[in-house]
Order: sequence, then structure tokens, then C-alpha cells
Amino acid sequence: MSIVQSVTDAVSTDGGRVDAVSVRVGAMSGVISEALTFAWGAASGGTALADARLEIEWVPAVVWCEACAAERELPGMRMVCPACQTRCPRLVRGRELDILSVEMAG
Ligand SMILES: [Zn+2]
Repeated sequence: MSIVQSVTDAVSTDGGRVDAVSVRVGAMSGVISEALTFAWGAASGGTALADARLEIEWVPAVVWCEACAAERELPGMRMVCPACQTRCPRLVRGRELDILSVEMAG
């Protein structure tokens, strides 16, 4: 919902229609694909965003593993190194929730 609000705020000044919106969503951001798509449809109706495409770029969760001295991509939601099974509390990537671009129609 907040993504839709942010984009609406960004484009409301020029009154144009939006063709597509790209967002970057981290695996640990708490956003679920289906929920985001649903919220998008519900919140964009009747706004400049109606009929706009939502393009989602998913970012995998990556932690810094002290034991491996390396960045490790997490296969799931557990903050545990997949190589050595050490707990890795330092999330390097995966909490993103950014608007990358807004494409105007016409
Ligand atoms: Zn490790």
C-alpha cells in the first residue's frame, strides 16, 4: 500500500497516467508477492496508476558469515549460513523496498 501511495504522490503533480512502475523488494522485507500484487490492484484503481504494470525485482536475502568470512545467500528465512550452519545476524541485503522507476504513459 505504501508503495502505491508513494508513487501516487510522486506523479499526482503532473496529472499524467502511469504506464509501469518498477520496485525492488527484498526477501526479508516482509512483502509477499501475491499480497503486493493484490494491494496494488486495490489501491491503484481510480488513480493515475490504474492499469499500470507493476514490475517487481526480487532481491534475495544475503548475510555476512563471520565463520566463512563471506557473503552467503540464504535459501530460506532462517538467518543461518547455508555453508557452515553458523548463525548470521548481519543481513547485507534483503530488506529493500524501493521504487526504481515510474514510467509515464504517452
Ligand atoms: Zn558460513
